[in-house]
Amino acid sequence: MSTINVNENKIKAEIAKRRTFAIISHPDAGKTTLTEKLLLFGGAIRLAGTVKGRKSQRTATSDWMEIEKQRGISVTSSAMQFEYNGIKVNILDTPGHQDFSEDTYRTLTAADSAVMLIDAAKGVEEQTKKLFAVCRMRGIPIFTFINKLDRESRDPLDLLQELEDVLGIRSCPMNWPIGMGQDFKGIYNREKNEVEVYQHGHYHEKDEIEVVDGNQEALVRQLGEYYYDKVMEDIELLDVAGDPFDMERIQKGELTPVFFGSAINNFGVQTFLDRFLTLAPVPTPRKSDAGPVNPDFPEFSGYVFKIQANMNPAHRDRIAFLRICSGYFERGMAVQHVRTGKTIKLSQPQQFFAQDRQIIEDAYPGDIIGLYDPGIFQIGDTLCQGSPFTFDEMPYFAPERFAKVTAKDAMKYKQFHKGVDQLTEEGAIQIYHTYGTGIDELVLGVVGELQYEVFEHRLKAEYGVDILMQRLPYEYARWIDGSKEDLQKFISGTNVVVKDKKGRFVALFQNEFGLRWASEKYPDIRFVDSPTKL
Ligand code: GDP
Repeated sequence: MSTINVNENKIKAEIAKRRTFAIISHPDAGKTTLTEKLLLFGGAIRLAGTVKGRKSQRTATSDWMEIEKQRGISVTSSAMQFEYNGIKVNILDTPGHQDFSEDTYRTLTAADSAVMLIDAAKGVEEQTKKLFAVCRMRGIPIFTFINKLDRESRDPLDLLQELEDVLGIRSCPMNWPIGMGQDFKGIYNREKNEVEVYQHGHYHEKDEIEVVDGNQEALVRQLGEYYYDKVMEDIELLDVAGDPFDMERIQKGELTPVFFGSAINNFGVQTFLDRFLTLAPVPTPRKSDAGPVNPDFPEFSGYVFKIQANMNPAHRDRIAFLRICSGYFERGMAVQHVRTGKTIKLSQPQQFFAQDRQIIEDAYPGDIIGLYDPGIFQIGDTLCQGSPFTFDEMPYFAPERFAKVTAKDAMKYKQFHKGVDQLTEEGAIQIYHTYGTGIDELVLGVVGELQYEVFEHRLKAEYGVDILMQRLPYEYARWIDGSKEDLQKFISGTNVVVKDKKGRFVALFQNEFGLRWASEKYPDIRFVDSPTKL
């Protein structure tokens, strides 16, 4: 075991400096753009605009995999750190595409708060709803940034109403937009009673933005009478009828502070960041089978929430992302890998700064570190020192799409199986074996369509294997549990059954009707949607 000589006060001070959050949004709301602007404030990337939106040919900082470049969407989650005003900010980037929601959900377990990004013209969209639901489930504070005010937008009051009607969360605007689109004049800061003036164009620094004191004369001069009256009316309405700022309700996730701006123009972004960092929680405890683990618990602990391969084509390796939950992490330290009972030495911990990754010497609770993974880690694994315990199970999502897979070239059989084994170990896809058909074939189960493509791409890129896939018409997978006789009866019927990696029986159904029919016909069998419920 490594000797820890960092004192507890130092650890506490480091914890207090950390904010770890995820940005959630529907695709196209501007998450990549906002992330890049935030990184810019931390000096993590040199110039705004060097990392343009991915629709241009240049690659965005947070998009690593080649497949993302080809498809123009974010399919991986990444974690990045930057320092800003003495705060260590950890941003978890989550893919917005729905096929990768499973990955996103897992990433959200590593966040202590969330920033919900909303397109001012579109309001609450499909993917926002799903991601919001997960944040709600975890009870984390949610901060809202309403983006693209430089475009024709919906009425801001309507947008707040929608947050309440659709998401069921009350809101408290911290600032308020004046005009929109061509007539976007700026944002009124309710706490400071001042207006940040918007001028069409791109801002680099907050200093470039003109700020006008909230006195009537100055504001009328700046905004004109119409917009002055309008913003005063709106603010009065918010003061009287809106929810007051209430830190306790924000911490419980019942009230969301709302900020307005335009990410691409870097307008309202720094104001948001400054205030957000004073409101966002420091690293919070995580649940385990030994009770809640507080960040200031002196012994090191953390868990793997994501495994990603090929982040950098020059390295061709796999990285396990670990959220540090307690104690102090030091490069080269020996920790227990609780699932296998082995002691492992963490010699190449990395942290991510925009495009760069660096070997780090130490890290603290709230930090996300990347561990080189020679194939030992699984999603959900706990690493710790002292008496072993396990962090709570990661959310599990039953696959909804199935396909038989084989290697195109039978000679590549070995590489094929190695690749399949490693990718399933990571936990993002499920592999089953056909049962009762005379031959052992592999059935791949995924949650979303895009995972097929990633699977195919990775087998080829990492293992040199071309594969053939034959789609199967099933949509539901249920682990079956019951007496030997009942299971035998079910299996020898016309039902489709496969076996999972651990040899447990899984029934596949084409639709909900089939599933219902089977549960009625076999009342003594339990059909469960996750092996953890067996
Ligand atoms: P993501 O899919 O959420 O990561 O969204 P992107 O950051 O890629 O942005 C989607 C599109 O919206 C891109 O074309 C951006 O240039 C554009 N965009 C982002 N922020 C703004 C904004 O504040 N105003 C306007 N007009 N466009 C924006």
